[in-house]
Formats: sequence, C-alpha cells, structure tokens
Amino acid sequence: MDRREFLNLAGKGVVAGATAMGMAACASGSPAAPEAAPAAEELAEEVQQDSGLPEISWEVATSWPLSLDTIFGGAETFAQRVSAMTGGKFNIVARAAGELVGGLEVLNAVEEGSVNVGHTASYYYVGKANSTAFGTAIPFGLTARQQNAWLYEGGGLELMQEFYKERFGVIQFPAGNTGAQMGGWFNKEINSAKDLEGLKMRIPGLGGRVMDKLGATVQVLPGGEIFQALQTGAIDATEWVGPYDDLTMGFHKVSKFYYYPGWWEPGPSLEVQINLNAWNELPEVYQEIVKTAAYEANMTMLARYDAKNVPALATILEEADVEMRPFSDDVMNASKEASDALLDEIAQEDTDFNSILKEWRSFKDGIQAWHGLNEARYLEYLGGIS
Ligand code: CA
Repeated sequence: MDRREFLNLAGKGVVAGATAMGMAACASGSPAAPEAAPAAEELAEEVQQDSGLPEISWEVATSWPLSLDTIFGGAETFAQRVSAMTGGKFNIVARAAGELVGGLEVLNAVEEGSVNVGHTASYYYVGKANSTAFGTAIPFGLTARQQNAWLYEGGGLELMQEFYKERFGVIQFPAGNTGAQMGGWFNKEINSAKDLEGLKMRIPGLGGRVMDKLGATVQVLPGGEIFQALQTGAIDATEWVGPYDDLTMGFHKVSKFYYYPGWWEPGPSLEVQINLNAWNELPEVYQEIVKTAAYEANMTMLARYDAKNVPALATILEEADVEMRPFSDDVMNASKEASDALLDEIAQEDTDFNSILKEWRSFKDGIQAWHGLNEARYLEYLGGIS
C-alpha cells in the first residue's frame, strides 16, 4: 500500500476498520478501496448486472397537482430513487392527480389494481375506513417526529400494514411528511368556538369530522378546486398545508386571516400504497429498494418543507394583506374536547379503529410527555427570547 492509497482509504474512514481480508486484498494489489457501506449506485450496478431481474415499468397515481413541487416531489423522489437504484430496470414515473385517476381515487385504484402504486394521504379515505386516519394524522395527535417514531419504531407501521393488507389488499410505506400544518385561510374571524358554527370549510379527514361536530359545514375538495371555491365564497375557509404550499396555491390573495396551528395535522404522513398482488410479484431486491426509496422520500419531503416554509411565510406576510392569528384557547379547548370525543365514538363502532387507537394512544402519551418536557422547554425558551 503506498502513501496515496493510504490517504485515499483514510479519507473514507476505513483504515481503522480494515479487516485482515481487506489488508490481504491491498497486498495482492487490488486497486479498489471498499466503501464502508454499499452505496445505492453499487446496488444499482448489481441489479443491472443480474440478468435474472425483470424490467418493470410502473406509474404512480398521486393526489397532487404538479404545481405543488414539495408534496408531488415526494412521489417523484420515490419514483426516481427506485429507478436509479435499479439502474432503470424498475422504472417508475410519478403522475399528477387526474392523469391516471382522480386525486381522491388513488387508494381505490390501487385496491382494484387498475394502478400498481399510488402516492396519497390515507385520510382522504376515512369514508372508506376510519383507521386510514392513523396513516396520515389524527387531530391533536403526533408531530412529524412522533409519527415517524410510532411508525418505524413503535410498532405503528406493522399494525397499519396488517390493517391495509386485510382491508384493501394493499401494502403501504410512509413516503413524505409536511410537518405541522397551519390552521389555514379564513374569510371570517374566529374568536371563539361559536364562530365555527355555520362556517363553510374545506377540511378532509377526521379534522373535518371534528369541525362538523363544532357546527361547521365541511367539504372535501381536491387541491385544484380550492382556490376558486374560496374566491367565489363557495367556502369561507380552507386548510391546506403550510406557508410554502399555501403561497403556491395563492390562498393569501383571496383570504383575510391566516390561523394557526393546524391541530388536526400536527405531523401528517403521506404514503406510497402498492397493490398487494403487484408487490408480491416483485423480486425481493426490488421490494427492499422500494422500502428504501419510500424512506428517503419520507425524510426528504419533511426537510424540504422545514427549509422552504421560512422564506415562504416571510413572502406571504410582506405581499399580502392578511392577518396572522393563533386560534384562541377557547377554539383549541373545544376542538380538543370534540376530537377526543370523536375518537372514542368511532372506537365504539369500529373494532379495527379501537385496537389501533389503544396502541396509538399509549405511544402518544409517552412520547408527548417526553417531548413536552425537554424539547418543549427548549423551544419555549428560544421563542421567548426571539
Ligand atoms: Ca392539510
């Protein structure tokens, strides 16, 4: 091993961990320096060289317009990474809402098998099964970090996958998270819970059912139809995501108030949903790559939202004549009470929901006590001095 080879290895941090076999390889003149872990590109090369692996093309049906580059970007990250890691053999392309199926029809299409894979928010389908809400967000539920902890390390994903398999013949993986959402855009002032009565609001999922309990008239519209509904007064209010996407949607141009926080979506996950028959036909190496690509999409989307929301909010506040307000304690308390009551009511009628809710609440109580102690104090302190 010459000096240059040594420095090359040292730069990659593998000298200390070199095995006897590795040293022997150097001694025999092997020029290749092994990486500490197999890189995605190496995996792709391996797949490309394995002539036994099939060439497959899939299209992802999504719930998103192309203009929402961050949320549609979750489907794109997923698709591009699977394609890249298989050297193009398993080629996936993400399609906007409406190209393959309507924005709110993704799970149905995956269930039927008319598309193999979708990227959507599972709570769009609470009308089909209440438990889908856990896959995205539950009112007064988990933050993005807590949601990931529950899904990946708290048994949540296993529980949810079991439910999806039995109920829909679908397997799903988290593939994006927006972080805590804003309360949204209102053309009526909401000072107390009473002001929600009669409010015509676009809000999907269980958050919508809580709003319904509080007296609002709830609508679920796909992304592309909301602006016009708000502009024409067909609705008085809409929630969407947060500053970055909301700015793209232009809601600040047709609203008076921007309320926060979106207590119904403190850390919602998006999902890749795959027809179970299509999944079972994939070679195991493709299944592993799909899981890895979904994981990457999950992390990348959250990081992008966190980074992009900051300048977007500044732009909204500079450009628009909009008043930004926190929901009052009265609104928060009434909403929390109605949310807890709704979850209990659904659990009484729906045994699947009940069993998932028990596990979920136990995890939530623990992690929120922990985050409420340390993280909360840290953020509260920083907020207080800024
Ligand atoms: Ca939302």
